[in-house]
Amino acid sequence: MRFKDIHGLEATKNLLRTAVKSNHVAHAQLFASMPGAPALLMALAYATYLNCENPTEEDACGDCSSCSKNQKFVHPDVHFIFPVSGTKNVKPIDAESRLFLKEWRGFLLTTPHGNLNDWSEIYGGEGKKAIISTKEKKTIVNNLALKAFEGKFKIMIIWHPELMHKNAANGILKVLEEPPANSLFLLVSEEPDTLLTTIISRTQRLNIPTFTDQELSELLTAAHGVESSRAKQLAHLADGSLRTALYLSAQVEADNFNFFKQWMRLCHQRQMGELVDQADEFAKLTKAAQGTFLKYGLSILREALVSISSTQEKLFRVEGDEKTFAANFGKVISIDQFQKLSALISEAAYHVERNINSKLLFMNLSINISKVFSLK
Ligand SMILES: [Zn+2]
Repeated sequence: MRFKDIHGLEATKNLLRTAVKSNHVAHAQLFASMPGAPALLMALAYATYLNCENPTEEDACGDCSSCSKNQKFVHPDVHFIFPVSGTKNVKPIDAESRLFLKEWRGFLLTTPHGNLNDWSEIYGGEGKKAIISTKEKKTIVNNLALKAFEGKFKIMIIWHPELMHKNAANGILKVLEEPPANSLFLLVSEEPDTLLTTIISRTQRLNIPTFTDQELSELLTAAHGVESSRAKQLAHLADGSLRTALYLSAQVEADNFNFFKQWMRLCHQRQMGELVDQADEFAKLTKAAQGTFLKYGLSILREALVSISSTQEKLFRVEGDEKTFAANFGKVISIDQFQKLSALISEAAYHVERNINSKLLFMNLSINISKVFSLK
């Protein structure tokens, strides 16, 4: 993780860069944020920058041996403490971070913007209360007592320090206040105000902001391929949280797919009663969601067309169930029917944005689509 991997938040990055350049790296820092802010990502990028062998003014180099280890989260001088619980294979009393490092690296590689729930699904602790147990006190003190293996700094990243057992928290106060030379603590908390005051008073607080709507929508478009007008809507709904935005994006896709699949089936079988029910469902959506759904339908038709006219795999933009559906759809409609369907749906998408009775619109559209299906 490097600064460049985090979209935006330039002011925060500059504060950290300046601290390094001017040799004012605080030995115990609290990265405080609201849920959904990239606080853990920022701590990871900062740790990478601190130990990089050839850093630039802006960022870690990404190529040196330190960077390459940090990229895989296996740097011997970067230690992680995080909440865990008992699992199928680990008794609750034995649960501690060091037993779950493999899962932790998997989490950081695949879901670094994830929350505690995402983490518990990965290590197998769903539904159980995760904590940082008393035992971690010893791990923290012992790891910092070691000489740095190869880095300039020994770095102890503690994720969700507010979930630290009181004995562990009290047990690290001394080392937090006076860590061994060249060691530093990065405490990453989404609930900084619930930390013990003795912990808070020993750390320098840095507030990590959530993404702005604009940063989030650019990020969704650039890194996750979400179409730009939809990215804007999602960014607004997600309230600065990348995790929420990605979740909403996946939800919208799944809902639209199921709705579209069912709709096409009902039109094909001319199930008028059920189509009326579906028109009611459609009318309950916001205008924007209705528009998005119809455009989604057009994109599936595009995939169906690709499957009719080409054998080139790379032209497919969708995967999995959607691809299978599009390919099967392509087998039952002709190119002529495809053109008629596209014209009908795109005309409806045009009308939906104007103040039209959406139930009636959907019903008319369904009847017309049924007619196209019956053409030979
Ligand atoms: Zn480097």
